[in-house]
Amino acid sequence: MSEPTPRGTDPDAGEAYVSTGSLPARDQVIALVTAAHGRFTREASGKIADYIPALAEADPAHFGICVTNARGETFAVGEADHSFSIQSVSKPFVFALVCEALGPDEGERLLGVDATGQPFNSVMAIELRANRTTNPMVNSGAIATTSLVAGASAEDRWSRVRDGLSRFAGRRLELDERVYASEAATNERNAGIAHLLRGYGRIYCDPDEAIEVYTRQCSLLVTARDLATMGATLAAGGVNPATGERVVSAGTCRHVLAVMATAGLYEHSGHWLFDVGLPGKSGVSGGIITVAPGKGALATYSPPLDEAGNSVRGLLATRFLSERLGLNLFVSAPVERGGASRAQS
Ligand code: GLU
Repeated sequence: MSEPTPRGTDPDAGEAYVSTGSLPARDQVIALVTAAHGRFTREASGKIADYIPALAEADPAHFGICVTNARGETFAVGEADHSFSIQSVSKPFVFALVCEALGPDEGERLLGVDATGQPFNSVMAIELRANRTTNPMVNSGAIATTSLVAGASAEDRWSRVRDGLSRFAGRRLELDERVYASEAATNERNAGIAHLLRGYGRIYCDPDEAIEVYTRQCSLLVTARDLATMGATLAAGGVNPATGERVVSAGTCRHVLAVMATAGLYEHSGHWLFDVGLPGKSGVSGGIITVAPGKGALATYSPPLDEAGNSVRGLLATRFLSERLGLNLFVSAPVERGGASRAQS
């Protein structure tokens, strides 16, 4: 397979073309977030993930929503402060750290950025691509991403991952030891993927070390409120709006959001983009983050999942809110002669 044409990224070029606009006024956001919670709280479909035994203990009734705008103002309802393991929602943030360190061209060359159309832990996805890359949002690409975190040992890499994700969240994130032990005892499939990648030269440190760090990163405890802050940092050009700290560059955010839009919702990523029109990432513990560039982020937590692994209530609430908050990136209104859009006239 041919390599993509290098884009010769100019680190300053991204700043000239930023997404504009803001979330609606505070009262309206509060009313809509509350309405979304009330509307979907009785939705009873979906199944809690149990392939990692500790995840099966989650409460199916839990449902939290949090919206954080690009200025760091937060609107939360339901179990927005309940802690759960971040699982795959860690993937865009570890990719952001790696992309920041290596640059987007190297990130794309070593990891790939195309959707696989396959389940998150697919081995076939690796085999189907001639150069054996996938993308950083599915397990194979995410394990390879973690293997690119700088460090002389697993401990070293782990402390960089944990520090980096904590900076996105604006507080020190803790490991859920029970979830970690449970996944570490049952992750033969991920270990198999890491060793297969090793055979193809597509993992960039010792595969067992990569799995160790990857499993820990998935076991970090977060709340929907944390995820909204982490997403809002990607929405705000890489500066955490709660702490004011720059975590990554605006250029990195742009590339991370593109991969989330392409591949963030498992094999339903196309359907998601068709419907919601925003970059997002879901995880098997029931979290979903959705980012509206320039405006803010929305995070949901509800453990019952659909067959692809996406939170059922999270999908419903996010679709509802992305429409009502006016976030879909693809929506436009005709422009009247003279410049005003019909929506404003
Ligand atoms: N730690 C999980 C795994 O690798 C993450 C899966 C997910 O949330 O998609 O199986």
